[in-house]
Amino acid sequence: MQGLMMQQPLLVASLLMHAERHHGKQEIVSRRVEGDIHRYSYRDLAQRARRMANALTSLGVRPGERVGTLAWNGYRHMELYFAVSGSGSVLHTLNPRLHVDQLAYIIEHAEDRVVFFDLTFLPLIESVAPRVKSPKVFVAMTDRAHMPQEHGLSTMLLCYEDLIDLHDDEFDWPLVDENSASSLCYTSGTTGNPKGVLYSHRSTVLHTYAAALPDSLNCSARDVILPVVPMFHVNAWGLPYISCMVGAKLVFPGPALDGKSLYELIETEQVTLSAGVPTVWQGLLAHVDAIEGAFSSMRRTIIGGAPCPTAMTAAFQERYQVDVLHAWGMTELSPVGTVCSFKAHQLSLPTDERYAIQAKQGRAVFGIDMKIVGPDGEELPWDGHAAGDLLVRGPWVVRQYFGSSDTSHLRDGWFPTGDVAKIDADGFMQITDRSKDVIKSGGEWISSTDIENVACLHPEVTTAVCIAARHPKWDERPLLLIVRKPGSALAAEELLGFFDGRVARWWKPDAVVFVDTVPLGATGKVLKNLLRDQFGDYYLTA
Ligand code: ADP
Repeated sequence: MQGLMMQQPLLVASLLMHAERHHGKQEIVSRRVEGDIHRYSYRDLAQRARRMANALTSLGVRPGERVGTLAWNGYRHMELYFAVSGSGSVLHTLNPRLHVDQLAYIIEHAEDRVVFFDLTFLPLIESVAPRVKSPKVFVAMTDRAHMPQEHGLSTMLLCYEDLIDLHDDEFDWPLVDENSASSLCYTSGTTGNPKGVLYSHRSTVLHTYAAALPDSLNCSARDVILPVVPMFHVNAWGLPYISCMVGAKLVFPGPALDGKSLYELIETEQVTLSAGVPTVWQGLLAHVDAIEGAFSSMRRTIIGGAPCPTAMTAAFQERYQVDVLHAWGMTELSPVGTVCSFKAHQLSLPTDERYAIQAKQGRAVFGIDMKIVGPDGEELPWDGHAAGDLLVRGPWVVRQYFGSSDTSHLRDGWFPTGDVAKIDADGFMQITDRSKDVIKSGGEWISSTDIENVACLHPEVTTAVCIAARHPKWDERPLLLIVRKPGSALAAEELLGFFDGRVARWWKPDAVVFVDTVPLGATGKVLKNLLRDQFGDYYLTA
């Protein structure tokens, strides 16, 4: 028997409509790339998003087509989040930290029709534009007064505020199919090129409900939320959508992510909740420590993307009375998978036991099923000891990547995360290792395969292996292990210099270790786990 409830599709535009109607006066504050602070309300956001939706239509962007953004966290980016997805097109957030070759690949692969960019990224756009066929139009996210007088773009360059001014704010958000695509985010693949994760309206709205819950990111209308995690990195962990759903005040930091700028913003705007990777919080803590400051409003901070060290949790909680919410997620999971919030019986545990719990990545939010499996796919017990491959499934987990029909990576319908984890009897998951061959530096991916491929181009290199080595500041940094050609005296500096221009600057390994051989498995594959055991602490001890 069918239920007899209304069939109201779950749409991204409905989040904005809700925010406009119920939280219209709530503020959105942005530090702009132009250098000043901009403030307006959700009502203004909704009105300008409708203008931009009309502008997109007049630019010929059709439903389902991709629109790229290369932008910091700010109100214009937020407007595009809703104008693009709300009008039925697909918001493709581009990561400006990638090398131009990768950006060009991703823009071409996604076939972006238009790319919007913050002025900071004009030089990057100038380098990318000649390499791509797809976007016919670029839009600088600024006003007429700040438009670049000279630029190297041969394609059309438009001004964001001109588009807003030229278009009407009457726009009816279309009732699209809730399963249609709303946004697209690329992640670094273990092998080969970056892969696109194509979110739907339905997956986005369901993720928003789940991520806002008290035991998830815990967001409400009384919060002032500062998303430090970039809007180009898995939709700032969903915070732009969550803020609309709950009606929180939003504070966008723009490009200024150093400790001093963040602290000033947190204090002047009375931020209650922020979110970002551990590296960013190190900078913030160092600044507040140095000035002997305090947080007058901040109550919670969400730390994820890399393991949150206990020293950081303790510093926030003991020195500054800011609770740490350790969270785990992935681009493929929209991203929220688990959040570490206490159960009632854990609150009275001794401090060190509570810190041991907070070092875990946390409990699955409703909607995410997870399990750990052994080498033969057998499910392992939740005893806090057995460690195995972490598999997940749920309505906001990727099934297949954009542009591919291949689902062979799934295991009986479960998505293998590439993380190795254990789960305790209370359901708290803890990552112990990573089986996927990538390096995560300051919250962003570096492909070890790409690094190895570049090193192998050098005529004096026989074998190149790149591993993730633990690093005190960046969590992980690439370390290059090299077997030289017989008789070669190739020096580390020369080999590292070889990377200049071939990869993004921050992808360049920090050090090279010359070895005589590398351990190989039965099928001739390099046993990276052995090399990680041997050299994983290189940067900690060097
Ligand atoms: P995000 O950085 O938003 O989590 P990514 O797709 O860039 O999303 O990276 C996902 C991967 O990052 C995970 O598979 C895991 O390896 C690592 N990761 C994310 N959060 C944590 C965490 N809290 N602790 C340890 N590793 C994490």
